[in-house]
Amino acid sequence: MEKLVYLDNNATTKIDERVLDSMLPYFKEEYANPSSMYDSAHCCANAIEEARKDIADFLGVKNEKSIIFTSCGTESANTAIKGVVNQYGNKETKNHIITTQVKHHCVLSVYKNFKKKGYRATYASVNENGELNIENLLSKITSDTILLSVMHANNETGAIYPVYEIAHEAKKINKNLKIFVDGVQAAGKIPIELEGSDIDFYSISGHKFHAPKGVGALYVKKGTLFEPFMLGGHQENCLRAGTQNTPYIVGMATAAKLAKKSLTYELSEVKRMRDKLEDGILHSLKNAQLNSKSKNRVPNTTNIGFKYIEGELILLYLNELGICASSGSACTSGSLDPSHVLRAQKVPFESLHGSIRFSLSRFTTEDEIDYAIQKIPEVIKKLAKISPFQKELNEFGL
Ligand code: PLP
Repeated sequence: MEKLVYLDNNATTKIDERVLDSMLPYFKEEYANPSSMYDSAHCCANAIEEARKDIADFLGVKNEKSIIFTSCGTESANTAIKGVVNQYGNKETKNHIITTQVKHHCVLSVYKNFKKKGYRATYASVNENGELNIENLLSKITSDTILLSVMHANNETGAIYPVYEIAHEAKKINKNLKIFVDGVQAAGKIPIELEGSDIDFYSISGHKFHAPKGVGALYVKKGTLFEPFMLGGHQENCLRAGTQNTPYIVGMATAAKLAKKSLTYELSEVKRMRDKLEDGILHSLKNAQLNSKSKNRVPNTTNIGFKYIEGELILLYLNELGICASSGSACTSGSLDPSHVLRAQKVPFESLHGSIRFSLSRFTTEDEIDYAIQKIPEVIKKLAKISPFQKELNEFGL
């Protein structure tokens, strides 16, 4: 297979060459432990502090001390959720924690664990467009609620949630409640402005915006106490122990600067190509249905259901043609269960099993989109011929 059309950028992204270049000195010459006492160590420590400023700037935060470096988005989410529950939760009576049905597994699994331990967990629903009913979400808050976790953008559909408004309104109901926002799929796709917001914790992951896998960050609002997840040395102001990964932190900071500069391109060109792909598929296949229906959506993502066609087969056939896409989230691929996000949105069963996410990046080209628009309908038509649902597919002219 010669051609590679990578349309799975919500799973991970290609490392930008400039990111790699910025990392290399910290593998070769500047490999000291940033906590040590000699010049080369200071050089690493300084690079980390510069990176902290860049990440703060990326997240629209003035005080770079609010940024903690972690190993990934999952660690950032675990730090925030466990940190809040262990700090503020009542071990005897337990408390109430809220999230949404469409959250990523890095949040849902932690909630499930706390539920097993006796905490009460509430999951707010979404409508058919994947949008949250804010009033309904807020109505779930009680004086006993200690944590509300929402995501900024959904990894499967690209839906953007009004996190600033949610945080603001939630704090009016219970000022002690902590707000954690998973910003992993928003970073690099839409502007982020945390300064002055009511958000207490905000997570990002480098590999979703052209930095390598294995590095992330967590914003913690000034003065917000939480029990650290990783205990050990004094790194990260004692809030995340473990020798800092200098090259990866530097790489993520370079990626953040580049992503900030590319935002206009993401919001115009990447969006234009995404819309072209989406329209191309929807116009050539009558059994194709858009699952990404939220009015507000990140520019790179579309999720399309192909009625009466099996999603795993679509992915296998696309793979043969060099097209990479996915069904569900990267963490659940391998599982045949239909996506919990699409189920929460009540996507009908006939397209639930044949739903595919296509996610672009600033490296996606017009040629690749043209190729995908040509090949995807061919694959669906081929699969329609071997589907057991001939009668139903005939109605769509397939
Ligand atoms: N949150 C969301 C919304 C994600 O999409 C992902 C990854 O797919 C994560 C968290 C986890 O990030 P990481 O892979 O860095 O652990």
